[in-house]
Amino acid sequence: MTDLTIVGGGIIGLSVAWRCQQRGLRVTVLDNGSDDGAWYAAAGMLAPAGESSFGQEALTALMIESAARWPGFAAELRRETGIDVGLDTHGTLAVALTGDDLAEAQRLWAYREQHGMGVHRLPPSEVRDREPALTPRLRGGAYLPDDQQVDPRRVLAALRTALGPAVVHRQATEVPPGPVVVAAGLGTAALTGLPIRPVKGLVLRLRGEPGLLRHVVVGQVDGRHVYVVPRTDGDIVIGATQEERADATVTAGAVLELLRPATELVPDLAEFELTESVVRHRPSTPDNAPLLGRISDDVVVAAGHHRNGVLLAPVTADLIADLVIEHSAPPAAFSPGRFA
Ligand SMILES: Cc1cc2nc3c(=O)[nH]c(=O)nc-3n(C[C@H](O)[C@H](O)[C@H](O)COP(=O)(O)OP(=O)(O)OC[C@H]3O[C@@H](n4cnc5c(N)ncnc54)[C@H](O)[C@@H]3O)c2cc1C
Repeated sequence: MTDLTIVGGGIIGLSVAWRCQQRGLRVTVLDNGSDDGAWYAAAGMLAPAGESSFGQEALTALMIESAARWPGFAAELRRETGIDVGLDTHGTLAVALTGDDLAEAQRLWAYREQHGMGVHRLPPSEVRDREPALTPRLRGGAYLPDDQQVDPRRVLAALRTALGPAVVHRQATEVPPGPVVVAAGLGTAALTGLPIRPVKGLVLRLRGEPGLLRHVVVGQVDGRHVYVVPRTDGDIVIGATQEERADATVTAGAVLELLRPATELVPDLAEFELTESVVRHRPSTPDNAPLLGRISDDVVVAAGHHRNGVLLAPVTADLIADLVIEHSAPPAAFSPGRFA
């Protein structure tokens, strides 16, 4: 017996399913069983004021709220499953290579400050005191204590463990009979007709001696944006390209676009082994904010999280569980009908 079917077993579908199950519903998740979801590539940065949010007040507020829910979400998952999802609270160092890069970065820092997030500006010498592996050519930086990271692959493993046999490997070709939550990332477009497009992203994984970096490093390097995310096991994730394309080819140019600025910022990375290059597609909407809400009496949608689906998973799961169980609607700014 099922009270609620969820289509899509990516980070959003599984988070929604877990919260609904915890609140007493018998859930079934239909997932095609592959690792083709965006979560598989995601760096797992929990960055509540990414540059994509300029002018998007409702989305910024949602991101800040979700970031605040991550510690509880991770701790509960660990208690239930024994799996540590790698929530790392060292914070982020944002750094700029040239004067122009610094001017660009300062616009974003000012936006963050307006929204009450911590920004501790640092001269180049103090940036390097915190991360000696960074190049001495930096013009400046800031410590962002609120921007953290998790390991999305571990989050998926934990959610799958928590849900156990509730996850069924099946491709849905149409929306099943309700009540149903469609949380199929890009697949949501074919199932519902909602405007979700693929935005191609490449990330690289490198492996070397653990301990080269302690913080996530986000860099502006000659006008290019790159992030370098150290995992505790010595893996380093470098990301991410962003292209309005649906193909999955790893091009030499895209690899260069990431490796050149990353090794300019952290020269020792050139000695690391390149272990993985992964392309996936962000499920993105016309305004790059998610679609959260009802599209008919029996069908709810939770999709289109673009660059921030990992960050937004806890708040999305709670909002959708509230909608399904208590009939309280998510904020109107995320209504799936707003593009009609
Ligand atoms: C390169 C890259 C880097 C990123 N970095 C970050 C980051 O640092 N921080 C962050 O917050 N976000 C990041 N993201 C974004 C994040 O990965 C996505 O927003 C998030 O994964 C969306 O979650 P989702 O569950 O909606 O979709 P997905 O993760 O894509 O999962 C959808 C699932 O549904 C399944 N599915 C689809 N159609 C069907 C169907 N018809 N029947 C059954 N199953 C189906 C798929 O197989 C998949 O398992 C990144 C994305 C990319 C591509």
